[in-house]
Amino acid sequence: MNPPPECLRCGACCRSPATAFVRVTGDDWSRLGVDAPRLAHFLGNRAFMRMKAGSCAALEIRAAPDGGAEFFCTVYDRRPQVCRDLARGSPACEGERARPAPAE
Ligand code: SF4
Ligand code: SF4
Repeated sequence: MNPPPECLRCGACCRSPATAFVRVTGDDWSRLGVDAPRLAHFLGNRAFMRMKAGSCAALEIRAAPDGGAEFFCTVYDRRPQVCRDLARGSPACEGERARPAPAE
């Protein structure tokens, strides 16, 4: 696969048609603080980031000056561990980028 783009111009690992996509552990929930109920919820007995139109609820998509899109994590310093563990350029990153983008 090609070298990874800048995460700001990719966002693939923050988007999915799945509802149970980004796992939120107890520590993650605590770290999200007052934003936890707005951004995360329980599905059964496990918590996940809420998904909105195929994107994590914490993702902000902005128009870039060149007409493309930029993908910002609005809770970057407090993002769940699974997001921290996904290293840009890793096999997991490649797998995320190989998935078709969800319909918006
Ligand atoms: S970690 Fe990989 S999949 Fe995620 S935004 Fe960065 S380049 Fe894209
Ligand atoms: S919490 Fe941030 S890094 Fe993790 S999936 Fe959501 S927008 Fe992406």
